[in-house]
Amino acid sequence: MAQIGQILVDVPTMQTNDPYSYAIPAEWEHQLQAGMRVIVPFGRGHRMVDGVVVGVTDVTSFDGTLKPIEAVLDLSPVLNAELQQLADWLADETFAFRITCIQTMLPNLLKTKTEREIAPLDAITPAERATYFPDGTPRPFDPDKLDEATVAGLLKLQRAGKVTVLYHVKNQAAAKTTTGVAPLLPPDKLVEIQHAVAKRAPKQADLLAYLQGMTPSQPQPQAKVVKAAGVSSAVINTGAEKGWLEKSSLEVYRDPFHQPVKPTHPLTLNPDQAKAVAAITAAIDGDDTQNFLVEGVTGSGKTEVYLQSIAVALQQKRTALMLVPEIALTPQMVNRVKARFGEQVAVLHSGLSKGEQYDEWRRIDNGEATVVVGARSAVFAPVKNVGLIIMDEEHESSYKQDETPRYHARDVALWRGRYNHCPVVLGSATPSLETRARAAKGIYTRLVLPKRVNDRPLPTVHIVDMRAEMKSIGDSDFSTPLVAAIQARLDRKEQVVLMLNRRGYSSFVMCRDCGFVLKCPNCDISLTLHMDSHSMKCHYCGHEEAIPKVCPNCHSRKIRYYGTGTQKVETALQAQFPTARILRMDVDSTRRKGAHERILKQFGNHEADILLGTQMIAKGLDFPNVTLVGVLNADTALGLPDFRASERTFQLLTQVSGRAGRATKPGEVFIQTFNPDHYAIQLAQSQDYERFFVTEMAMRHQGSYPPYYFAVQVTASHEDEAVAAKAMYQIVAALKGDLSDQAIVLGPTPKAIARVKRKYYYQVVIKYKNEPDLKAGLEQIRQAAQIPARHGLAVTIDPEPMNFM
Ligand code: ADP
Ligand code: ZN
Ligand code: ZN
Repeated sequence: MAQIGQILVDVPTMQTNDPYSYAIPAEWEHQLQAGMRVIVPFGRGHRMVDGVVVGVTDVTSFDGTLKPIEAVLDLSPVLNAELQQLADWLADETFAFRITCIQTMLPNLLKTKTEREIAPLDAITPAERATYFPDGTPRPFDPDKLDEATVAGLLKLQRAGKVTVLYHVKNQAAAKTTTGVAPLLPPDKLVEIQHAVAKRAPKQADLLAYLQGMTPSQPQPQAKVVKAAGVSSAVINTGAEKGWLEKSSLEVYRDPFHQPVKPTHPLTLNPDQAKAVAAITAAIDGDDTQNFLVEGVTGSGKTEVYLQSIAVALQQKRTALMLVPEIALTPQMVNRVKARFGEQVAVLHSGLSKGEQYDEWRRIDNGEATVVVGARSAVFAPVKNVGLIIMDEEHESSYKQDETPRYHARDVALWRGRYNHCPVVLGSATPSLETRARAAKGIYTRLVLPKRVNDRPLPTVHIVDMRAEMKSIGDSDFSTPLVAAIQARLDRKEQVVLMLNRRGYSSFVMCRDCGFVLKCPNCDISLTLHMDSHSMKCHYCGHEEAIPKVCPNCHSRKIRYYGTGTQKVETALQAQFPTARILRMDVDSTRRKGAHERILKQFGNHEADILLGTQMIAKGLDFPNVTLVGVLNADTALGLPDFRASERTFQLLTQVSGRAGRATKPGEVFIQTFNPDHYAIQLAQSQDYERFFVTEMAMRHQGSYPPYYFAVQVTASHEDEAVAAKAMYQIVAALKGDLSDQAIVLGPTPKAIARVKRKYYYQVVIKYKNEPDLKAGLEQIRQAAQIPARHGLAVTIDPEPMNFM
């Protein structure tokens, strides 16, 4: 008997979804498992490449030419069985390579070359310790330097729980350490000494009493012992000198959420909330997978429904996964989950350092953390035995990844729900049309929270017609009624949230004489004015240049910026309300780590009267003293060539309106717009999601758009425009053979922004209802695109793209 490993190799230019077979050296037989990473020789030059084991088979013999696996990178799988299956499904769904999907699912620390160390655990025997750790200390795990027999021995020890592998970021003191304290003497001995010193040194006695309760081999942080035993560090030093305890260096988890949170208790649910929790509870108890749409107006108490449902899953000794659009934008939500579930909560998001991310990942993987909160990629968290998956603000576009693999976290959540036999709860005040339409079909059970908690009224929304206002206020960004409303709040010491919608909007520079617009030399888009750095920047490629003083086209001096930036609005606002305290929140003011939380905290403490920000202030904020919300420019996004423009506008206006009047004081909203008659604006005024849904569905039907049609976008890019265009025409010609005449083909066309980072982009969008051959056709295009990839042609396939631009 022998064993063969199926290995997915990580070779970017020659990717395939099929694994290669490698011989497993005799020493490692029955040790290698799927989900471990290895190094294998590849290609004619026998170059060493990384790979992942996806299968192991027993064979009686094999062809002697099979190359052997060179080295093992993990002693236990980094991907559990569920995630291995998920990777396969993901690759198939998103036209991505399995290896790419696996990389996406792993924490960053495991993707890069990291230093590894093997450390002995308590269970190791003295003999094993002597063999494998002659120095008594952890040893570097460098597969190139270890012989097969040693690796085989270590693999066995790992399986028996006797050693562990620690991953370190190079040059970056990865594992954070603190001083640890552990008792050196058995409890009865400690009791004896305690009695002896009790009168003379009561503090030492306190320390000895505390040490008796500790497990000998499990050191605790010194800071914790100091606090819990009520002694100073000097007393601990005495204890060390007297041989009662041992000080050591202790690895600690980096806590990504530094602020302590006050614990909260479940609230008494109102009848609508209780009905929702009961339905979700029944689904957690049941064996069939049932999924839900929680459709609740802003302030209806959706979060409390989530929290109490998570509690149900935990009672059943299962785990819970909660997805939020962007962690940085929702610190209040994270704090609410932590306040309810404390230490068992892990937080995952891209803002964490690699080390922090890995710490959280490990706490989840080993079962210490049972509630995971995170943004999009947290949907791959290695939680086991999942009892509930929640996706808050399910309509948010940030749930779709816009690079390969182009997955939507909602689809992954639903897959994991099926795998774990647990419900998925999609929550929103303004569900995506896709989700609401599926609920109408009965695919999701719809749970409605139609009223705000305690019958608080929704805010009163006024629409301000800026076409009329412009006549009296000229260039100002603030209409007369909004100014009066702000002044009233300042007088009453209430707070104001003002939103400047930056979507589809930019502060670009235009010549008022000839209309010349300054564009990026690499990309086909206007450069944006940045007042802080006094420069023009390209948001696509980062190109930066000086602000022009004269028009490069006609030499006029009347070249100036057009549009409004938050900084300009802040200046104007301050001029209008000289004594008001203003906080600004936009990409510039929140660039530094933690800046976001700081601004929100200041506002929460009423250290400012007005919070002025971009769309990032629309979500999730719950400040009781905010009684006025102003939207300075409601319709900038309506003009985008995007079939979801109305939906996005309605969602944004509803979300931001929901920030007003959440507590006892009633709220008021002013929406400034140049399109007061547009249905998205009108229905945002009445906050009537259901009418918006019906109206928008009719529009989608008319235009043959999702959710009536599925869509897939194929893009080809190349430095030479002719190459990109030709490739796109060939692709369309090939695909047409797979399509019925029911499918609608848009294109090929150059993309709305045809040139980005010196490459030209051509695209086609296919809208379809039922095309059984399309998937195979797309698969072929992807395979064919592999070879020319070396010559700079890139082809991407985006199922259900977020927009068609
Ligand atoms: P949503 O997420 O639907 O916008 P929240 O969950 O933020 O709403 O709830 C709005 C406010 O109502 C919060 O301050 C929350 O603490 C409070 N709240 C929620 N449920 C209850 C309840 N059953 N009783 C009292 N207050 C509640
Ligand atoms: Zn000009
Ligand atoms: Zn550019």
